[in-house]
Amino acid sequence: MDDDSPAVRASTRAVHAGHRAAEHLGALSVPIYQASAFERPVVLDGGYDYSRIANPTRTALEESLAALEGGTAGFAFASGMAAATTTVLALCEAGDHVVIPDNTYGGTWDLFSRVLPRWGLEFDVVDLADPAALERALKPHTTLIWAETPSNPSLKITDIAAVADIAHAHGVRLLVDNTFGSPVLQQPIALGADAVMHSTTKYLSGHSDVTGGAVVTSDTAIAEALKFHSGALGTMGQPFDSWLVLRGIKTLPIRMAQVSRSALAIAQYLEAHPRVHRVHYPGLPNDPGHDVAKRQMSDFGGVVSFEVDDPAAVCAATKVFTLAVSLGGIESLIQNPGRMTHCTTPGGPIRIPETLIRLSIGLEDVDDLLADLDAGLRC
Ligand code: PLP
Repeated sequence: MDDDSPAVRASTRAVHAGHRAAEHLGALSVPIYQASAFERPVVLDGGYDYSRIANPTRTALEESLAALEGGTAGFAFASGMAAATTTVLALCEAGDHVVIPDNTYGGTWDLFSRVLPRWGLEFDVVDLADPAALERALKPHTTLIWAETPSNPSLKITDIAAVADIAHAHGVRLLVDNTFGSPVLQQPIALGADAVMHSTTKYLSGHSDVTGGAVVTSDTAIAEALKFHSGALGTMGQPFDSWLVLRGIKTLPIRMAQVSRSALAIAQYLEAHPRVHRVHYPGLPNDPGHDVAKRQMSDFGGVVSFEVDDPAAVCAATKVFTLAVSLGGIESLIQNPGRMTHCTTPGGPIRIPETLIRLSIGLEDVDDLLADLDAGLRC
């Protein structure tokens, strides 16, 4: 298949991109090249030689990721945080200033607030939905804007094209964490982002059985910096993990369609529930991010958050929703971010209400999920 043809749609790319069976004895599934080094016919022939630098299973995944995101180069990492760390170290210098969003994954907050300042990086937290606030936050030494949309855990929406315009007018790069949207629902590079990042632990692998990360770009300088730093830091993904993510990607479009459908039904149910104070889901017409999300996403994804008194009791009461962190897998999960995934953010500028519950909608029958929530909200 010609992976580069624009006529090839997402579902076809998800199944075929990155896999050239003839290069693998015709195997329909890319083999797991579980090898640390490769015998070379001659010195310096440019082929695979050491798996930290390149590995054929990882290459297949990286080509698939690039094709799905509409970029020219993809990089697979050991985790989403390995992807984030490598990207910042590749693109920023000590003394640079970066902008991060006011709603973001707790690990991203830890990286920018507790790790990188020790290496000379300055940061400011900004509401990226407010262009004037973003303009005010930019400094002469700002080099990177880090966006996450929809955001974890409040599903806040950033207008990618608008932020890209502001960034580029100031000579600043924009990276978008596209973990919640996945490349099936949203393609930040086409909207102007310089790079897009994922925790492939989530929707891309989709089965709660692997930790991984990815970055895709169409910018040659960014690609070269990522290639060098991935090898130099040793943050790249392993062969078996790459294979698991590749296998997950093949069903990504149908999974995203089903979880988006179920999530909308669940968000509508929660919106009408007397015990629920607020629902966060960009698919709801009343959601503050709805109009932008409708413009830049083809559907709204599988994460729904809502606010309720005594969230711990509700989390403990559900039976089909499992009380666990993470998201994007086949099984539905429930958690209380303020005390779980985002427990390091209290007191800081990333404010997560203690009453917030985050749901990751899986592939179970939506009626079973609704009945389970109904029972849980009666506790
Ligand atoms: N970005 C987002 C939006 C996430 O939700 C997560 C993890 O939950 C990460 C990045 C970090 O990914 P990982 O846990 O694979 O390191």
